[in-house]
Parts: sequence; structure tokens; C-alpha cells
Amino acid sequence: MSNFSLTIDGTQVAAAKTFGVINPATGAVFEHAPECSADQLDLAFAAAQRAFTSWRKDEAQRRACMVDAANLLMASVNDIAPVLTTEQGKPLVNAQIEVYASAMWLQHYAAMPIPHDLLQDDELARVEVVRRPLGVVAGITPWNFPLVLAFWKIAPALLAGNTMVLKPSPFTPLATLKTVEILQSVLPPGVLNAVSGGDGLGALMTSHPVPRKISFTGSTATGKLVAASAAPDLKRITLELGGNDPAIVLDDANPQVVANAIFEHAFDNNGQVCSAIKRVYVPEALYDDVVDALAEKANAVVVGDGSDPASQLGPINNAPQFERVKMLVADALSSGASAVTGGHALDGPGYFFAPTILANINEGTRIVDEEQFGPALPVLSYQSIDEAIERANATNFGLSGSVWGTDSDRAAEVANQLDCGTTWVNTHLQLGPSQPFGGHKWSGIGIENGTWGLDAFTEVQAIHRSKVPLA
Ligand code: NAD
Repeated sequence: MSNFSLTIDGTQVAAAKTFGVINPATGAVFEHAPECSADQLDLAFAAAQRAFTSWRKDEAQRRACMVDAANLLMASVNDIAPVLTTEQGKPLVNAQIEVYASAMWLQHYAAMPIPHDLLQDDELARVEVVRRPLGVVAGITPWNFPLVLAFWKIAPALLAGNTMVLKPSPFTPLATLKTVEILQSVLPPGVLNAVSGGDGLGALMTSHPVPRKISFTGSTATGKLVAASAAPDLKRITLELGGNDPAIVLDDANPQVVANAIFEHAFDNNGQVCSAIKRVYVPEALYDDVVDALAEKANAVVVGDGSDPASQLGPINNAPQFERVKMLVADALSSGASAVTGGHALDGPGYFFAPTILANINEGTRIVDEEQFGPALPVLSYQSIDEAIERANATNFGLSGSVWGTDSDRAAEVANQLDCGTTWVNTHLQLGPSQPFGGHKWSGIGIENGTWGLDAFTEVQAIHRSKVPLA
């Protein structure tokens, strides 16, 4: 039995099977989620297909529904945020922020004009370019920010006139199921459907004949499978994938000030952010000071159950990821790196790991070369800035990166040489609904957010009306 249900065609639907959802603060199953069958997935896509016929026609209705949905989300924060904290692990205040951010994305897109270009209007012809919706979209999301990353898809997709079937991660299905259920009171049936299940359900979605687009956020490895699965019938894809963001500290930086900021942007959401700082490059002269200041921050941060208001960082979300972080840190230590602080899991139940600063470490160590996605940060030293840039770029990832220094023009010049979708100067992780976000190289294909994110849920159509009388 589950207190949560699938949403198919505006109706709450149980599934024949359920799967356990673990609270990462205890390591124990606290609830069950419905496991959507293949037949139920067909019904969800069929409902989205039917709803598309009328949803695409009335832009004013879509905008009004999205405003209502934003208001309802904000009013429902106390129904949704505690569920998100319990399944994801993040502190309740962060879960509440995630609900509000989701509403913000709906509001932003509800007010965004849909591009319409008039290329020619003279005695010969009227030539316009309009954006058409794609049809049914399959949305697939990861476990780190289940809600806001879903609304990066839902808001532009719905504005453009598409309908959606959404699948959250099996580690964090519940807040998404609850949110989609709540929103049914302000959306026509079938416009937004939610299904939950394992990774196999995601694979069924990407190969399903109905969706015209797969909007996927998750790991690079899965993204490649999604691209391959979508290719045979030329489904459109947006892939927001993993990152291994470098932060380059310049020699004019104040070590203490910079370390405080870098710590926040590396350990936000316990390091489980696609575009968190995952490697830090520090000039030799500042190396010890930056490492010590980072360790001081790591020592001071309060790690605990996200439902405890004192907790600043929660547990790692799930057992496989917990094991991976433990393995990567152990590997670094056995390769000669030192844990200036942390370096080990914390006692007790749950997937808690001590915030870890790794020093005396270099490329060639797995935690530097791969995405750790957890509370452990390697700090590397460099001699020349050209060398630092080259090392920062020497990766298949290309999500984002940042440069830190007192002379911000000089820092911006260095940032311009980073090969990634977003560069920041003296900050990191600053994202918003109007700012495009996407990965270069193996960090993704396509863009989310802003007008670019809306374009990604449309097809361009040229309408050429001749005004020359037919002979
Ligand atoms: P994941 O790739 O394991 O899973 C993501 C989603 O894909 C889940 O819903 C999962 O069930 C589904 N899935 C798994 N196999 C599938 C398949 N074969 N076909 C279709 N769907 C399938 O990723 P995760 O572990 O949940 O998330 C962590 C990863 O996500 C990290 O690499 C992180 O960097 C990345 N991420 C990227 C962004 C971004 O915007 N670039 C944002 C957040 C997270």
C-alpha cells in the first residue's frame, strides 16, 4: 500500500506493485511508491496525447493555469517540503526553498512571450515564423533536486503548448507525485501526468512511440542511453548531465574570503549539485591558507537529519551514492592524498559522511577526474595560470566553472577561457529562470531556462503566404 499515487489523465491511480522509499537520515524504508506498469505508462502517454489537442490551442488559458499552479504550489509548501526532506535528506528550509523556486519558474514562464517573427510583409508575400509545440514530452529527473529540476521542464513545456508525462528518480519519487497530484485542481486532465518506477520505466519512456521529446536530467552515462534510445524515431532530446566544475583561485584572492564562498558552492545540497564546485585550483603561494580555511568551514558545518532545524547539511541521498563517495575518498587517501578534515563516514544509521577537504592531490586520482557528487572536495595546487586553465579544461565534462580574484576583470579574462556552459566570476551556482543553463561536451545537449529553454520545447514553423495573384 502507498499513500502516494500515479497521476494519469487527472486521476489518482494506484499500481499493482509498490517499491520502498528510504529516508537517507535513517537508512530505513519510510513509505512506498507505486510502481507504474507498462500498461499504465501507455495510459499516461495516451492521456497526454488527448490533452494536447486542446491544450495547444489556448495560450491565454495556459498562462492562467500556470499562474494558478504557482500560487497553489506556494500555498502547499507545508504538504510538499517535509516529504522532500524525508526522501531526499536536505534540510527542511532548503526543501521549502525548492518548492518556492519551482513556483518561481512557473511564474517566470507564465509571463514570457512566445517568439513570433515577421520576416516579410509586402505586396509579394507575408512571411512569418512561429513556434509550434512538439506534442507529448517525457520528463525524467534525478534525485538531487527532484522538484525544481522538474519545473525547469514543466514550465516552458506547458507554456509552449506541450503536455507531459513526468518520471522522478526511484530514490525521490514522493514529493513529485504529491506535487503533480496537488496541481490537478488547476490543470486540465492529462496535461501533466506523473509516473514512478525504476530505471526500466525511464527506458520504456524513451523508446515509447508517443513522446516527441525526451527532456532528461541525470548522469552522463544514462544520458548516452537516452540519446541512443531516442534516436531511431528522431525524438528531440535535451540532456542535462553531470559536471566536474573547476574553481580557479587567482593569486590576488583573499584566501579566507574566497574559501568561505567556495565552501558554500561546493557543499550546497551536500555536494549533490550538478554544477557544484568539484575541484579547486589554488596557486602554490596561497595553497595552505585556502586549504586551512576550507577545512575550518568543513569542521564548523552541522551535519544531521534534515528535519532537525539545526542541520545545515543532510545525509547523502542513497546507499549507492554513499558507497561511491566512500570509495572515491578511500581511493584518494590510498593514492597519497590527505584528508585535512573528514575523510570518513559518520557513525550511526543513515548515509552521513563527514564534510571532507582533500589536499596533496592531483589529476589521475579518481575523485579529481570523475564527478564525486558528494561532500568531499579535492584542492589542487598550480604554478601558472595557463597551466591551471589547461588542467581545468582537460576533462570530458563542461557544465560550468568559476574564477576567483580581487581584480575581477582579470578573473573574467581567465573565465572566458573555460570550456563550459556557464562561467562565473567571484561566485558560482548563480542560476535563474532567465539565464540559459546547459553543458558543453559530455555535460549535455541543449539548453534549459530562459528563452532558449522555451525554444527547446518548440519546433520552428515558417508560414509563407504569397500575395501574388495566381495566374
Ligand atoms: P541517473 O542518470 O542515474 O538517473 C536520472 C533519472 O534517469 C532517474 O529518474 C532514473 O530512474 C532515470 N533512468 C535511469 N536509467 C534510465 C534509462 N536507461 N533510460 C531512461 N531513464 C533512465 O542520475 P541520478 O543519479 O539520479 O542523478 C545524478 C546525476 O544527475 C549526476 O551526474 C548529476 O550531475 C546529474 N545532474 C545534472 C543536472 C544538470 O542540470 N546538468 C542537474 C542535476 C543532476
